[in-house]
Amino acid sequence: MTTDQNLPHAEEKPCYQSVIIVGPPGVGKGTQGKLLAQIPGIFHISSGDMFRQLDENSKLGKIFHQYATRGELVPDSITVKIWQNYVQAKACEKVYNPASDLLVLDGIPRNINQATLIAPYLNLLNVIYMVCEDREVMFQRIRGRAIKENRQDDTDELIVRYRWDVYKRETEPLIDRYPQELIRIVDANTIPADVLHQILGAIVPIQKEHFTAPLM
Ligand code: ADP
Repeated sequence: MTTDQNLPHAEEKPCYQSVIIVGPPGVGKGTQGKLLAQIPGIFHISSGDMFRQLDENSKLGKIFHQYATRGELVPDSITVKIWQNYVQAKACEKVYNPASDLLVLDGIPRNINQATLIAPYLNLLNVIYMVCEDREVMFQRIRGRAIKENRQDDTDELIVRYRWDVYKRETEPLIDRYPQELIRIVDANTIPADVLHQILGAIVPIQKEHFTAPLM
């Protein structure tokens, strides 16, 4: 007998199986994100990249530019709306399959309000907390990235330091707000392969538990 009880109703919110990566600017989230994005069954979103893909002459592109060049966060309502549209578009394009892919969020949520706004869309399985006690290591990485990636917000030392303060004030408090059993601390002051190894130590069991991976 056919029944519609398992079909999502139009008004129902999607629920994405998710992992969040939290860490300060320059800690290596971008490097790890690119590596994770290569793994079948993982769909990685970097909010910074999502914003940088906006047409810089569009209204939203201009808003992003205005905030990013000052090292400030884009307002929450705009950020969350762009994120929702982005995920939905990727699901429609079948680049992201919520039924088989773990969603890895990097750079969003960036504060408690954003966490509250996106929470209804997520089944949050882990929070990867990338830690590097040495601020100067991170500033050094950002200086290197400024040249390689031509990022304006990375070239001005004062803006870089301001972003660090914003992280401390707005983003780091998230770690105390999530259930502590979800937090996985990753030592980011080591070689990228070791950081990846630690992150996979958290993610692989989740993927195995929540998704039946197709044989490759
Ligand atoms: P980083 O982690 O090195 O600071 P990102 O690429 O994540 O750099 O972000 C660059 C800029 O994009 C931020 O300074 C901010 O202006 C904007 N941004 C990215 N993610 C968010 C977010 N979740 N909320 C608000 N602004 C964001």
